[in-house]
Amino acid sequence: MEFRDLKLQYQKNKEALDEAILDVLTSGQYIGGKYVKDLEVQLAEYIGVKHCITCANGTDALSLVLMAWDIKEGDAVFVPDFTFFATGEVVSYNGATPVFVDVDERTFNLDPNKLLIAVERVKREGKLTPKVVIPVDLFGLPADYEAIGKVAKEHNLLVLEDGAQGFGGHINGQMACSFGNAATTSFFPAKPLGCYGDGGAIFTNNDQTADILRSLKTHGKGESKYDNVRIGVNSRLDAIQAAILQVKLKTFKEQELESVNRAFKLYNERLINVVETPYIPKGFYSSFAQYTIKLKSIDQRNALQKHLRLNDIPSMVYYNKPMHLQDAFKNLKYDDDDFVVTNNLCDTVLSLPMHPYLTENDIETVSNIIVNYLN
Ligand SMILES: *Cc1c(COP(=O)(O)O)cnc(C)c1O
Repeated sequence: MEFRDLKLQYQKNKEALDEAILDVLTSGQYIGGKYVKDLEVQLAEYIGVKHCITCANGTDALSLVLMAWDIKEGDAVFVPDFTFFATGEVVSYNGATPVFVDVDERTFNLDPNKLLIAVERVKREGKLTPKVVIPVDLFGLPADYEAIGKVAKEHNLLVLEDGAQGFGGHINGQMACSFGNAATTSFFPAKPLGCYGDGGAIFTNNDQTADILRSLKTHGKGESKYDNVRIGVNSRLDAIQAAILQVKLKTFKEQELESVNRAFKLYNERLINVVETPYIPKGFYSSFAQYTIKLKSIDQRNALQKHLRLNDIPSMVYYNKPMHLQDAFKNLKYDDDDFVVTNNLCDTVLSLPMHPYLTENDIETVSNIIVNYLN
């Protein structure tokens, strides 16, 4: 069994994918052009926003938005403590200071109450200016944008949705990657919508931000590529990945998103009284980048993972280290007591095999091993 079976996914869609790749090779247009433009239109339409700007990866996507908003030294950017490193990395990369905030113990997403406390504390201390909050749609579940939006409005923060894991989720029908002032996603192969290399995208309804982003990702271009009006970067999605993504977006919409939600239900039915299963609040829909359970202790979690491995079942710990304990942020001196929930999650979470082509039989096998072991 694979943790995320990308080879099987390719086999299931091989004909259309091979054709798309060959089309690009035949066209001679390998950077930019029709495939990229068409994909941006399709993505913007699916998400329900005005602008989609593709780029090289999900990390660049986040960084480009911070650049477009002129986030720099002296600015505070609020980031969940429980996330992939890139969410905090881009803040420091742009010279600003990441202020980590603990997460909610049930959703694993940014806790809006703790965000408010953190913003007020930064204001009181007076060293940094609160500018941006980056909520993450962790494991596929959109963050609580209504509550976060209230805090952001009260304190004049821009909201940047990190939807790298959230593509396809929604809250009462409003799609992930459409929340906040801008949103980003990643097309890394194992994300909900993945390509066969690196890729990323930014979504926004703001015309001016979109213009700046298009310039920034192309060496700060002005009227043309050889007229440069600002310092930018080179960050583009290539045409082959764009063509692949068009095929995969179709399958994603038509069946894959439903399939992972079906797998979630089948897992939950079997595991709900045995371990803590994923919690999806009313009105929320997850794209299940991960199916993550919670055990009672680090010993129980590690022992179960070992037992699964002995039975050839792959599992992963996302994430085993909170952001505030990463060596790269050591100079920032956080108070460990502010991160009780994240510290606990890092010790107790375990992600099980999850992908659209997982069979009921696979789920039965994994669940039985867990149930028998824990009983
Ligand atoms: C994967 C990921 C990113 C970065 O995406 P890349 O395409 O790998 O650069 C950023 N944030 C989160 C939450 C992610 O999971």
